[in-house]
Amino acid sequence: MTEQQRETTIQALAQCDLAEFARIVNLAIARRSDTQTENNCDRTKLTFAQAMQTREDDGSWSRWSTSAIASADLAYYKPDWEFGNGEPFWQFGECLRCHIKLCSHAKATLCPICGAQNTLT
Ligand SMILES: [Zn+2]
Repeated sequence: MTEQQRETTIQALAQCDLAEFARIVNLAIARRSDTQTENNCDRTKLTFAQAMQTREDDGSWSRWSTSAIASADLAYYKPDWEFGNGEPFWQFGECLRCHIKLCSHAKATLCPICGAQNTLT
């Protein structure tokens, strides 16, 4: 990739809304062949995640937690629904199959780790 191509890509990603940005990154990760590794003891998979803190009763912030950003399940929504709905990722849950913590701008989602359909709240 040339410096010009890199800058064009960065500008495009910086200007699209948050939901579209997450969809593009999740699709790119899914198409890469080098996002999973495995040996005798461990298995890894690259994912796009959101870190979050919660305000405690005493005004301090909790420890950070992370949730993988799940794309909207376009089999559930209309095909053009996701783009143009750049809401923050305020829907949360846990994947029913692989148990990773998830967040999304949509309630009906696909897990970025195992592909399972999940309903977030
Ligand atoms: Zn899963």
